[in-house]
Amino acid sequence: MKIAVAKEILADENRVAMTPDTIKKLKSDDVEIVIQSSAGKLSHYTDEEYEKAGAQIAGSEKELYDGAEVIFKVRPPEKKEIASYPKGCVLVSYLEVLRNPEISNELNKRNITSFAMDTIPRISRAQSMDALSSQASAAGYKAVLLAAAFIRKFLPMLTTAAGTIPPAKVVVLGAGVAGLQAIATARRLGAKVEAYDIRPAAKEEVQSLGAKFIDVTLDEETEAEGGYAKDVSDKSKSVIQQTIHNHVAAADIVITTAQVPGKKAPILVTEKMVKAMQPGSVLVDMAVEQGGNVEGSKVGENVEINGVTIMGPVNLPARMAMDTSQMYARNIMSLFKLMNKEGKLDLNFEDAIIKGACITHDGQTIHEKTKELLNA
Ligand code: NAD
Repeated sequence: MKIAVAKEILADENRVAMTPDTIKKLKSDDVEIVIQSSAGKLSHYTDEEYEKAGAQIAGSEKELYDGAEVIFKVRPPEKKEIASYPKGCVLVSYLEVLRNPEISNELNKRNITSFAMDTIPRISRAQSMDALSSQASAAGYKAVLLAAAFIRKFLPMLTTAAGTIPPAKVVVLGAGVAGLQAIATARRLGAKVEAYDIRPAAKEEVQSLGAKFIDVTLDEETEAEGGYAKDVSDKSKSVIQQTIHNHVAAADIVITTAQVPGKKAPILVTEKMVKAMQPGSVLVDMAVEQGGNVEGSKVGENVEINGVTIMGPVNLPARMAMDTSQMYARNIMSLFKLMNKEGKLDLNFEDAIIKGACITHDGQTIHEKTKELLNA
């Protein structure tokens, strides 16, 4: 079986879907891996390393895709990329169907069986394939480092001959995968950390990382199927804002990660709260691409309001591409092991992981949520 690993074409996407290390593990007598020349360049993996690991290097698209049965990729393919894929092949990639269900129509035109790394069910058996978690965790880490590098303050408490510097106060809003990694990172840097999440289950996890949980009492159910948050009423949103106001106002750094799958991100930090913060404070809105958790944040920009900076970084995992490519490649490798039987594709649609991740097959969109969105 030939697997093709494509070079990413999106600007600033530094990641690559396979690393030399994973190719070494995946390659066998039955599995041949061809990678597009310089696909790993921005993750600092060279063609020579890939060759040494057992991959072949393709100098042209024809060499890459001719006879390929499977394609591995990071970002959802653009129309022109899909047009170059062999008809009837299997694609494993992020597909972001909640934002762009129409991609399934393009894939069906070429009869491509597609598996979305971002719809793999989050069951314990799929943990090693969970790209949402591996990438979110890296993003949470990087968000804290961005803020720490930007703020003109120390994060840890310092006792020096020149006096004592108190620890920075960090507030993390949204304590899912990214938020928990942000809390752990800020704690390791010595900051005093408080955090809030709408799911009550997050409280224990926040506390186990040595942070204080901000309690907000709501009179509605906040957790949906699969452990995700629900989109709550405007009344609840307003209660949350009132409760966290003073915590945000007193913070040196605020990291926001709150998301509700398929919905616009909730506004947690209002302009009034930003204006109540001390000049020099920094907010990092990790949900900026989903509409933002901070009023006034802008995609890919730093916005300053009364001396307070709101950062709206995009694609944080790409800034950690050496490690995030490695993690993503291992996630893909784990999923692929479910499909590969001695070099032959063996797709068992009875398997909850295969079923949950598959978007298109046999010229049809089979993923329920994608179908719903297409028909809406
Ligand atoms: P996410 O990226 O969808 O959201 C980030 C966080 O924002 C979530 O914790 C969510 O509760 C929170 N949030 C949403 N609206 C909010 C609001 N108004 N105020 C405050 N917080 C708000 O979520 P995620 O990080 O991908 O993880 C979601 C859940 O999935 C978690 O329960 C996590 O433990 C679970 N999970 C399970 C597995 C597994 O079992 N294999 C793997 C990964 C994640």
